[in-house]
Amino acid sequence: MKIYSYSKLSTFENCPFQYKLRYIEKIKIDKDTIERFLGNIVHYTLEYTYLNRDKLLKKGNPKEAIKQLFNYFWINGSGKTKNFKEFEGYKSSILVVKRGRGPEDYKSMGERCIERYFEKYAPFDQNKILGMEKRIQIKLDPAGTYLLNGIIDRLDETAAGDLEIHDYKTGANAPSEAKMEKERQLPLYHIGVAEEFSGKKITLIWHYLMSGIEFRINKNEEQLQGIKTETMGVINEIEATQEFKTQKSGLCNYCEYYGTYCQ
Ligand code: SF4
Repeated sequence: MKIYSYSKLSTFENCPFQYKLRYIEKIKIDKDTIERFLGNIVHYTLEYTYLNRDKLLKKGNPKEAIKQLFNYFWINGSGKTKNFKEFEGYKSSILVVKRGRGPEDYKSMGERCIERYFEKYAPFDQNKILGMEKRIQIKLDPAGTYLLNGIIDRLDETAAGDLEIHDYKTGANAPSEAKMEKERQLPLYHIGVAEEFSGKKITLIWHYLMSGIEFRINKNEEQLQGIKTETMGVINEIEATQEFKTQKSGLCNYCEYYGTYCQ
């Protein structure tokens, strides 16, 4: 049995053919979209902010300093940033799908995300941080036959000793509460975290940075079991698939294979 991830499973559910090209044939195409790029730069900025909180807060105008940091990452990538992961800055080959919008519009949107987050969370000391970009393994069955890998944006411990799994989203629209209840990604991370830190209360928190909306959800054992069963069902379906068919949708506009491997 292979090891899966949330993004592998959702790729298969969105388009089995894209799954085949990306994960079975491992065809790599250097084509990024502006939404993905923006999401990454916002994530890097927040991660760096938490890691360098004391230094940034000492600046005369810390909100401006963090916005400048976002702009620096947007232009230079990790550039000359010491002791931080390496990534590239904006390049003109990044795809902008939405008509009437340019890269500068997305840059302004990113700045607004950072500004709003600052206003709500500075001085960023609400909890103790246990990990950022924290890697976890998720066991779906007792034998460990069904395994997933995951990366948590931020794992916190509250003053009461409870745990919080935080996830940053930069999509333009926040989903409805009902849709959030069906979300699978953070409940899967809950399963992985509960293995590592047993007996702790765990809260799942999604930050929709563009709209400033935050969802906080707790899952009980029965709900988590349902997610395990559902996820194992998707894995079984992938393993049994012989013909990975195309599934056309609005997502084709953002697909790296559109126009080359798939028309
Ligand atoms: S272009 Fe659309 S149908 Fe083709 S692989 Fe990509 S997502 Fe699937």
